[in-house]
Amino acid sequence: MRATVMFEAGDVRIENVPDPRIIEPTDAVVTVTRGCICGSDLWPYNKMEHIDSGRIMGHEAIGVVEAVGNEVRKIKVGDFVIMPFAFSDGTCEFCHEGLQTSCIHGGFFGTTEVAGAQAEAVRVPLADGTLFVLPVRQDEALTPSLLTLSDVMGTGHHAAVVANVRPGKKVAVVGDGAVGLCGVIAARRLGAEQIIILGRHADRIALAREFGATDVVSERGDEAIERVRELTGGSGVHSVLECVGLEQAVYTAISIARPGGAVGRVGVPQDEKTPGSEPAFYNNVSVSGGPAPVRAYIDELLPDVLEGRIEPGRVFDRTVGLDEVPDGYRAMNEREAIKVMVKP
Ligand SMILES: [Zn+2]
Repeated sequence: MRATVMFEAGDVRIENVPDPRIIEPTDAVVTVTRGCICGSDLWPYNKMEHIDSGRIMGHEAIGVVEAVGNEVRKIKVGDFVIMPFAFSDGTCEFCHEGLQTSCIHGGFFGTTEVAGAQAEAVRVPLADGTLFVLPVRQDEALTPSLLTLSDVMGTGHHAAVVANVRPGKKVAVVGDGAVGLCGVIAARRLGAEQIIILGRHADRIALAREFGATDVVSERGDEAIERVRELTGGSGVHSVLECVGLEQAVYTAISIARPGGAVGRVGVPQDEKTPGSEPAFYNNVSVSGGPAPVRAYIDELLPDVLEGRIEPGRVFDRTVGLDEVPDGYRAMNEREAIKVMVKP
């Protein structure tokens, strides 16, 4: 089959690789209907060291089950499924607590160990725990939004949940990438009254406003902190969704939370140290977050997608075939595209 293979920073190619097959009896093989490129794929795209064997990229997909191992009980050939970006057994203590990204038998797609889904097909470990069977047939109009439940919408929602977004509260979203935009959707969905987006790309800001952002802050650093304070009567916001991961963004996020507020981090941290420990301490700001257990959130978010109350699929502003995936990486890296959907 054909798959997207990254060999080092800037070197993404479409290669012929062996077809995925059942290795463990708990595996499934899924034909990918749609995949996509994630903002987090841009970190290796900019920094990855050379690997001779390369890495099959992609951790978001919807597709159709083509084969199952002989210990798979719930998932059937022909099922239309969401593949969350992490695989999980669905049975351990963390899965039972709804934190499937900490599953003791789990892991992530698109790593050097487990091949990804920017490909014609993907092997899914622990299929019964990992895959979510959709109650609908394939539907072109719904496809983009269903795909976001594999990562980006669930991740934006996670940021809002851990930042304790509540009805009537003031919220800020740091970052206007696809996750930040989904964070705006999530904050509005949870009833936030004021939603301030921190970002500076005109197309993304316009979409953020359509998703429910009430204010825009395009400044950076201390000026951004000052501007958020002005917009919130001097106090800062109750909840901050940090959707970038760079040091300055995390510092800004912590600094714009009001005393007693909370920051939900879903941007993959790019630094060892946690910035902002002083303002976090003196203002009693809770800082939490991490890889979103999107598997746990599908039940809650899917009805809103199916009934059209939220349209997170609008974050995709380009669709490419596999051959154009390398250009899709370039386009996202150059901020020419918000998020690229892949139709293998
Ligand atoms: Zn588990």
